[in-house]
Amino acid sequence: MSKKRLFPVGGQKTNFNQAPMQRPVNINIDNCNSLTCEACGGEYFDVIYKIKVVPIVLSPTGKEERIVLPLFRCADPNCRKVTKVIMK
Ligand SMILES: [Zn+2]
Repeated sequence: MSKKRLFPVGGQKTNFNQAPMQRPVNINIDNCNSLTCEACGGEYFDVIYKIKVVPIVLSPTGKEERIVLPLFRCADPNCRKVTKVIMK
């Protein structure tokens, strides 16, 4: 079993004791546009993860680290494009 630790993006430890982020009060979600798939226009996405390996020479800890990147893949079974529309 690997003893390497998983780090979320930014290397911050997740604090599960923190209160969940609150949504701004006066926003009606129905008034917000949906991001759509640039290939098929679909509105639904699956979350997938890419795991990058930080080489020892670039690692601030001096050890090989992992960075987990969440990505969004079009949920349309005929498309499945990994979208870049949110990567602004
Ligand atoms: Zn699509």
